[in-house]
Amino acid sequence: MNAASQGKRTITAIPGDGIGPEVMHATQRILEAAGAPVVFETAEAGANAFRKGIATGAPRETLDSIATNGIVLKGPLETPVGFGEKSANVTLRKHFELYANIRPVRELPGIRTPFTGRGIDLVIVRENVEDVYAGIEHMQTPDVAQCLKLMTAPGCERIIRAAFAVAVAEGRKAVTCATKANIMKLTEGMMKRVFERVGPDYPAIAQDHIIIDNCAHQLVLAPERFDVIVTSNMNGDIISDLAAGLVGGLGIAPSANLGDRVAMFEAVHGSAPQIAGKGLANPTALLSAAVMLLRHIGAFAVAETIEQALFITLAEGRNLTGDLSPRGHGVGTAAFTEQVIQNLGRTSNAASRAYSALSLTPWPDATAHTEPATRELVGLDVFVESDATAAALGAALEAVCADTAFRLAGISNRGVQVHPPTGGYTFLVDHFACRFLLRAPTDGDATDAIADLLARVAARYRWMHIEKLQRFDGVEAFERAQGEG
Ligand code: NAD
Repeated sequence: MNAASQGKRTITAIPGDGIGPEVMHATQRILEAAGAPVVFETAEAGANAFRKGIATGAPRETLDSIATNGIVLKGPLETPVGFGEKSANVTLRKHFELYANIRPVRELPGIRTPFTGRGIDLVIVRENVEDVYAGIEHMQTPDVAQCLKLMTAPGCERIIRAAFAVAVAEGRKAVTCATKANIMKLTEGMMKRVFERVGPDYPAIAQDHIIIDNCAHQLVLAPERFDVIVTSNMNGDIISDLAAGLVGGLGIAPSANLGDRVAMFEAVHGSAPQIAGKGLANPTALLSAAVMLLRHIGAFAVAETIEQALFITLAEGRNLTGDLSPRGHGVGTAAFTEQVIQNLGRTSNAASRAYSALSLTPWPDATAHTEPATRELVGLDVFVESDATAAALGAALEAVCADTAFRLAGISNRGVQVHPPTGGYTFLVDHFACRFLLRAPTDGDATDAIADLLARVAARYRWMHIEKLQRFDGVEAFERAQGEG
């Protein structure tokens, strides 16, 4: 009989590196003892794959297993230090477009922290594939590095809808959107605008926006005020680790990485090479990730049984692993696992939430595209490398464009206008953004005029890249430099 005909779901299990196989084994034992309706198909990724020369860290058979099963329980994967090899974790996240990173942060019974008793019980929903972590980077000059921060309206919409879906599935009352919209008005601002547009679809859930730095501040001052926080990739990376620190650290934190077709559950911690192979690792984080997995596949009762057994084990404090036993009375992975198994069926004082199925909005396969009613080209930013002064560069470029379709509007250096001078004190590097405005804006793409301007600039200066300055539906689709009128 196959797994499906027994009512069991096949899960791809990636034990991973370091302590991964030990915490995976422990977790699988507990799931089996609890009668969880799953069977595991073991697959490889991480250090072994790199050693075999698989540059992505994830062999084809592993990708095929994940694509077939759709659900993954994953141990930690070592990230090779150095150039060339990509992180296997990032490979898996990007290959399967696991766009939603879900990190529950909750006080666990028996785990004492400076915040114990505050009632911390929140979820951070982090966008997982866009933003600066797309890793689109270029050296612009030998001294100047650039990273593209790409945020998209569909990317923002699906993560925001995922956050509301988490709130609904977990019976939560509020979603807070945390951004840096006050500074990055187009990228981070997009997330805020999409949140305000999508929010009314969820009238039963309270909604607010907070600037991300204040969010970090509030997480420390009053973490109990948060319920669900949705945020962009890098912001989420930082605040989710901060939040995990409030309740006992990364070692006990689980996470889910969700996409439309694949869901991957893992511990937040790494491969802990110092204790690997010694039978000392704490399986709490991977076990908690497995509990999230079980809820994801609808096995709510068994998820609750396991969660309660874990809670009572932690609360009673007998047979805890060394990392949770400050006075050195810790036991090994096997004894802790045995204790959790013995506690299956008991109920702790810490209630589990009333979970229901999480339903993500599926996204169409078609390339996402919005056509504005009007589109106007108003100018061009040309980025040039030069060791000239701003005044000399300005005078030269004014002459360069004198009889072209463009006029020089200004020059900025790292986002600050330096020509015409504003009287500010700006340290200059050899990377100037030269803003040329079309004398007559056009609804065409002005390719000939751009090529003409670029050829004239290139005759005198090295240029690195250009950016079109556009208006979509009459609204400027670019930011102004600091000091620019
Ligand atoms: P780490 O999480 O492996 O270790 C940090 C500290 O926590 C160490 O003292 C370790 O012994 C302890 N620790 C972690 N998990 C534990 C557990 N379950 N039980 C007991 N103690 C535990 O972080 P690191 O040392 O920065 O990273 C080691 C490797 O793991 C690196 O190669 C890194 O790239 C990788 N890593 C992978 C993931 C992942 O796969 N998601 C996440 C983080 C780090």
